Amino acid sequence: MARILRINLSASTATTEDVPEAWKKFGGRGLTSSILEREVPPTCDPLGVENKLVWAPGILAGTAVPCSGRISVGAKSPLTKGIKEANSGGAMAQKLARLGLKAVIFEGKAAEPTSIKIDKDGVRFSKASAYAGLGCYAILETLRKEHGDTICAACIGPAGDQQLSAASIQFTTPDFHIRVAARGGLGAVMGSKNLKTVVVDDAGSNLVLIKDKQKLKENVGILTKGVLANHFVGELRKLGTPAIVMITQTAGALPTKNYSMGQFEKAEKICGEHMEELLKGRPNAETEHHCMNGCIISCSNVYTDDKGELIVSGIEYETIALIGSNCMIDDLDSVARINRACNDVGVDTMDVGSALAVAMEGGLLPWGDAAAALKLVEGIAQGKEDSRMIGCGAKVTGEKLGVRRIPHVKGQALSGYDPRILKGVGVTFATSPQGADHTAGLVLPGPHDPTYSPVASTGQAAKSQFMQSWMAAADTLGLCMMIAMPIMESGPGLHLNVIACVEALSGEKLEEKYICNLGRSVLEIERKFNQAAGFTNADDRLPRFFVEESYAPGAPVFDVKEEEVDSVFKSGT
Ligand code: SF4
Repeated sequence: MARILRINLSASTATTEDVPEAWKKFGGRGLTSSILEREVPPTCDPLGVENKLVWAPGILAGTAVPCSGRISVGAKSPLTKGIKEANSGGAMAQKLARLGLKAVIFEGKAAEPTSIKIDKDGVRFSKASAYAGLGCYAILETLRKEHGDTICAACIGPAGDQQLSAASIQFTTPDFHIRVAARGGLGAVMGSKNLKTVVVDDAGSNLVLIKDKQKLKENVGILTKGVLANHFVGELRKLGTPAIVMITQTAGALPTKNYSMGQFEKAEKICGEHMEELLKGRPNAETEHHCMNGCIISCSNVYTDDKGELIVSGIEYETIALIGSNCMIDDLDSVARINRACNDVGVDTMDVGSALAVAMEGGLLPWGDAAAALKLVEGIAQGKEDSRMIGCGAKVTGEKLGVRRIPHVKGQALSGYDPRILKGVGVTFATSPQGADHTAGLVLPGPHDPTYSPVASTGQAAKSQFMQSWMAAADTLGLCMMIAMPIMESGPGLHLNVIACVEALSGEKLEEKYICNLGRSVLEIERKFNQAAGFTNADDRLPRFFVEESYAPGAPVFDVKEEEVDSVFKSGT
């Protein structure tokens, strides 16, 4: 039976405990949010000792279900001041599941920077002094040399040490690239606990229990075949999420010049198709790469320079949109280098990309100046004042520089989709308990929903409500968004195979509406926490400029009425 590992950093103790009955139906985000709701005072200081940092593999982690190894990281967020879950690819979730761990709770605060190793024999604490002053790439490589190639390592960088509110947590993939739990400043929470690195080694342990292996195998087969037949998965396999650049560009929803335009005249220089051409001629580059074992889509990439030296793996659409077009930077290599610098100091590329655009609007650096943007991000490592501001994200940057147009909700930057064109996404940005984030419920048109219009001013709340429930469930199951979306699009089809996989694990019979009901129950817990923290409907609003300002083409504004926005959570969730 999987257990919860509780690590008290103040006392350097580690204990395991049974999973309470009420939490057994959860994993991933559902479990991190349940633990926070029960154990963390909603009004506490996110960087104070009362806050807790919780890691939880999803329900399906460690099984053969494709793309099911996301790790959920939860805490009260120093960025949004509400409940937060940021999830990441990499090897962490599968290793924790194999060690029989349903969650790890980090509580208290260590007296000095601390490293932790978790394996089948228990938990060891050591001083992290060797990593002082290093960037995340060097820290993770050092851990690999020390503990071997089969571990998963996690760390914070200088931004987490300084407790900057856009600080992230870095996790290693099976081949030691970096994936990031980026959103909400949870790296700052880790820093506030003086927790610098965590190594997990699952050697000699496989405690993933499967009641009906044959049932699991059959349904994994159907799921795999069905997902690979999806219309967009082929594009994702070829170009990764950078394929989205030309889609949002065509729709007029590509954030450009701090969301003052929806199309970037040089989009073709930063798009997925251009990236493919570029990487084709570069040694050691890959346009199809997987971030975890068991991934069948491989939407990631390995971006190298023309000599074959790694710049970053992988570069994503949201990073390109926010560091590229939104800052008027038209050179993909420059975007990749800024992305690497973000990973190295340990900050969210979305909040920092948005902060850079806001700083450009505020006159701190010229539009499109990639060298100045890179210098600002790199300066976080030395604690330079303007760099620290950027490392705190778009809201802090905008307020300090007196910029009126700050694209954030609940303190968190929008993640690369203009809500004046994609209004269902706008409703999700406004109402998600997680702050503005596409992974909380990306409402998109497509063949699965031929009558849906993303620009209509009505009918968006119901779509957002459904997608928020769907994604909260996907995060609880540990499913990557890239597989959760095609499963949803398959209509009454592949989701039944997902349910059958959960049944194969537990041996229990589940209802047909299991996925949406699971997601709704997670959202209820998160709304409850946020309400107790002081959030009201007034916090569920996009910045006014999206309502008041339009742009070419089409002169759109976000005109979904507030009553409709509020209806997303009117009756429970
Ligand atoms: S689809 Fe992409 S993000 Fe998802 S598991 Fe595979 S490589 Fe990682």
